[in-house]
Amino acid sequence: MTEFPAPAEHAPDASAIAANLARIKARIAVACDRAGRDPAAVALVAVSKTHPAAAVEAALAAGQVNFGENRVQEAAGKFPPLRAAHPAMRLHLIGGLQTNKARDAVRVADVIESLDRPRLAEAIADAIRREGRAPALLVQVNTGAEPQKSGVARDEASAFLRACREAHGLAVTGAMCIPPEGEDPAPHFRWLAAFAADEGLPVLSMGMSGDFEAAVECGATEVRVGSALFGARPSPV
Ligand SMILES: *Cc1c(COP(=O)(O)O)cnc(C)c1O
Repeated sequence: MTEFPAPAEHAPDASAIAANLARIKARIAVACDRAGRDPAAVALVAVSKTHPAAAVEAALAAGQVNFGENRVQEAAGKFPPLRAAHPAMRLHLIGGLQTNKARDAVRVADVIESLDRPRLAEAIADAIRREGRAPALLVQVNTGAEPQKSGVARDEASAFLRACREAHGLAVTGAMCIPPEGEDPAPHFRWLAAFAADEGLPVLSMGMSGDFEAAVECGATEVRVGSALFGARPSPV
């Protein structure tokens, strides 16, 4: 296995991370209040991609349990030692997943949010059998039909979900999307919420640093927040 290059080691500011975490939770609570929702029904996933393990430690110390990474190899390097010390922490893989990484993903993740094509469904099903370990699975929908993004097309999402369940025996519990940058995300969030409701999917992963309040108002049960918590990333990932 090739080593993932270590992120630039800047000592994370633990008190800033704790303060950001409190601020984000307060904003989620306000959005829940506006929408008449219970804040306990919205999980915050701290997206720690490119940030060092020490930043994750700082968030753990402030009570954070759910973390998100978009690259299997980075996650596989960073998380197992942390998890040994913090057994309750949960790792969400939120990035496009290559079929040949499915087994590593199943080994390390508690949730895989980027299930988006039949070959990957097959590889994940196979990995679950071999590893005897089954992460929770979310179908990613490319709601903006962007060619550079992972995700199944809107009009193929129902058939794909059925194939995951029936042909591959996968227990899919939710849906995830990343709306196009620079567009009003709300129509994308509403589409995904309607899709999840129609399909009986209880988990709705939507909303990032720039739009998590809108996502909460549209029914997100999970928001994925990176830069607002850990600070800017060295380069776009
Ligand atoms: C990086 C990333 C995030 C977090 O983005 P921020 O804007 O830094 O909050 C959320 N979801 C996915 C899929 C990502 O890749």
